[in-house]
Amino acid sequence: MSSGSPIQIPSRLPLLLTHEGVLLPGSTMRTSVDSARNLQLVRSRLLKGTSLQSTILGVIPNTPDPASDAQDLPPLHRIGTAALAVQVVGSNWPKPHYTLLVTGLCRFQIVQVLKEKPYPVAQVEQLDRLEEFPSALQTREELGELSEQFYKYAVQLVEMLDMSVPAVAKLRRLLDSLPREALPDILTSIIRTSNKEKLQILDAVSLEDRFKATIPLLVRQIEGLKLLQKTRKHKQDDEKRVIAIRPMRRVTHVPGALEEEEEEEEDSDDVVLLERKVRTSSMPEPARRVCLKEVKRLKKMPQSMPEYALTRNYLELMVELPWNKSTTDRLDIRAARVLLDNDHYAMEKLKKRVLEYLAVRQLKNNLKGPILCFVGPPGVGKTSVGRSVAKTLGREFHRIALGGVCDQSDIRGHRRTYVGSMPGRIINGLKTVGVNNPVFLLDEVDKLGKSLQGDPAAALLEVLDPEQNHNFTDHYLNVAFDLSQVLFIATANTTATIPAALLDRMEVIQVPGYTQEEKIEIAHRHLIPKQLDQHGLTPQQLQIPPATTLGIITRYTREAGVRSLDRKLGAICRAVAVKVAEGQHRGAKLERTDALEAEGGRERSEDVEPQPIGDSGAAGLALPPEMPILIDLHALKDILGPPMYEMEVSERLSQPGVAIGLAWTPLGGELMFVEASRMDGEGQLTLTGQLGDVMKESAHLAISWLRSNAKKYHLTNASGSFDLLDNTDIHLHFPAGAVTKDGPSAGVTIVTCLASLFSGRLVRSDVAMTGEITLRGLVLPVGGIKDKVLAAHRAGLKRVILPQRNEKDLEEIPGNVRRDLSFVTASCLDEVLNAAFDGGFSVKARPGLLNSKL
Ligand code: ADP
Repeated sequence: MSSGSPIQIPSRLPLLLTHEGVLLPGSTMRTSVDSARNLQLVRSRLLKGTSLQSTILGVIPNTPDPASDAQDLPPLHRIGTAALAVQVVGSNWPKPHYTLLVTGLCRFQIVQVLKEKPYPVAQVEQLDRLEEFPSALQTREELGELSEQFYKYAVQLVEMLDMSVPAVAKLRRLLDSLPREALPDILTSIIRTSNKEKLQILDAVSLEDRFKATIPLLVRQIEGLKLLQKTRKHKQDDEKRVIAIRPMRRVTHVPGALEEEEEEEEDSDDVVLLERKVRTSSMPEPARRVCLKEVKRLKKMPQSMPEYALTRNYLELMVELPWNKSTTDRLDIRAARVLLDNDHYAMEKLKKRVLEYLAVRQLKNNLKGPILCFVGPPGVGKTSVGRSVAKTLGREFHRIALGGVCDQSDIRGHRRTYVGSMPGRIINGLKTVGVNNPVFLLDEVDKLGKSLQGDPAAALLEVLDPEQNHNFTDHYLNVAFDLSQVLFIATANTTATIPAALLDRMEVIQVPGYTQEEKIEIAHRHLIPKQLDQHGLTPQQLQIPPATTLGIITRYTREAGVRSLDRKLGAICRAVAVKVAEGQHRGAKLERTDALEAEGGRERSEDVEPQPIGDSGAAGLALPPEMPILIDLHALKDILGPPMYEMEVSERLSQPGVAIGLAWTPLGGELMFVEASRMDGEGQLTLTGQLGDVMKESAHLAISWLRSNAKKYHLTNASGSFDLLDNTDIHLHFPAGAVTKDGPSAGVTIVTCLASLFSGRLVRSDVAMTGEITLRGLVLPVGGIKDKVLAAHRAGLKRVILPQRNEKDLEEIPGNVRRDLSFVTASCLDEVLNAAFDGGFSVKARPGLLNSKL
């Protein structure tokens, strides 16, 4: 401030930390206050204080205030501007903040920070005033020339502007009436300058430096204006006038004239940068037009408007999206085959279909084909095959988990009118991968939900339909994006819950579960090496023989895939890693006592050293370090605890009225026991075990068929009557009572179970069956044969009874499983019963009629 200023600033000032602009003495600035310390300052000084003095603050530029007051004060900029708070506007949206209007008075320098909390207060030294007195003379004499030169430029600049605008005329008058010393600050805040330049002017404490620093800025502005005027000499349209006047609007920011300041130069630079990016980006014309319109709006918008940030985010996303950026496909079917084979053991059918798909793409070079959908139990490698496909093609891979998604905006984005709106997962995914031809794995499409917010499946239809997806419109983008280059692969556990329209667009490839032998191979080829690697172990440190792997598979896991197996192998690696790390720590100098200790600890399972094969003694830890730790069944028990699953089949079949069925679930095949009992009653049938309608009907069918054939098979109730329900109630139960079961394939099992109950004969304990029945005793085909047969094999059964028309499905079953099991295909219930009971279930009364087909 000039020497004549009557304002003597207080020697202690509360400090307002800012980083978004530089307030110079003599100008006005609007600043947003939202950090903890600044908020405190506004509340206790401006909103509560009553004196004029309490409205004087020290504004420290270039110093971001930490968001919370728990954080330390950052280093403060040395020089600040004492300022008068003229207006405080509070708002709670989008979060609590104040907007302060402050007018700069004079420079000050921080002498000492007196306190930091709740807001910083400092002892300050007023700089402009100190500078003023000793140099008053000097200003006139030594700086005379400099200040004259400065004044000349200032006048030249103002006169280049349109003098008919009142503000410009006022500025011209002010140039003469204000003290020269005040002019550098005022003019710097009016003309186009960056924050950095303003900071330099603020830091120029001596008047000479200040004049020297400001003159180049004035010259630059004059040159700029000259250039501008030259280019539009001929057509003076309105818009350009606005630009020409733009600097003049700041003229009003002289002391006393408190008008709203324009948005920050730096930000407008950003907007210009953004505009340039929009112009140079490869987006299609319609999108560019929308963007340019938004840029135009952005330029006119005050920065404090919430929409400003929204629009900017939108533009940034638009510029970032890979409109035209793609990776080049390298399609070599031979290499792809090798890669798929290397990454995945077994799953021949899936690999074959994937290769076919890739081959067609190679020949046809376009993607208009069905979307592949891998359907199978968890952990059978669906996701990892998807990843391999991306790898073979040399494309980016991105997984979109759809499980539980029940809002269509998740797929298609929110309209930009909503607060917190954002693009959908597809557009987000594209932004993440940065190319427009990635492989997108739509995981768990069968678990899409539905809610009031619309049906995400319907939105997916548009994404997946090759006819439509070249102009997929995300609500947030509001312009079309071409998805036709994206390769979509879907995965699901079951097709039953995939919406029909969606299923229609996909080619379902069933991925069945693995046999024990396949699991052992997968474990040794892929899982164990991967786990060893993840745990920093080497095969020289840990060895898991196949017999142990089989032990894990049969006793510790019951699954179609290999995910639990993988986890159990991980658990073994962890346990061994501890031992190896301990061993390294102790070095090879283990003494006998250690070995004995290890023996003593064997009772506690986690302490126990895995036993090396062939040495069940206590020498585990005493082994030289180069000996691998071998996991045998004993060590397995120590690490994983007692076996979780035991073979229980034969035990449960020790009385009449029990039979084993085979069920298919999304998690793979499973054994399903059926139990029946009879008691005195009035001919009622009770069914328990959470059954669906179809299953209940199967039970009624089974009873009806048995009643009508009771004589033929010599089935009687307790009192010897052929009317099976006479004075008899029947109860059928399907254990695992908490699991809902439905489907027709239990028909043959229910018949067998009831036949056993009424004949008093035991069903063979090594036989399982599946098949739908009709009232006339025919056996109809059912689905999921491979999974069901694998479940029977897993459980150690020997014979499987299937519908005759399912014979073709047996081809899918691996050779070793086929060798271990004997299959009986049945077309009618006679054949089923004959195969289910030892010695057949033939009828003595009319032997000629029924020939066993076994
Ligand atoms: P899904 O998607 O079917 O639930 P994942 O693809 O996540 O299953 O597979 C789980 C784990 O099992 C992965 O680490 C995968 O590498 C492994 N895996 C599954 N099947 C095979 C296989 N045939 N060969 C090698 N690894 C497999």
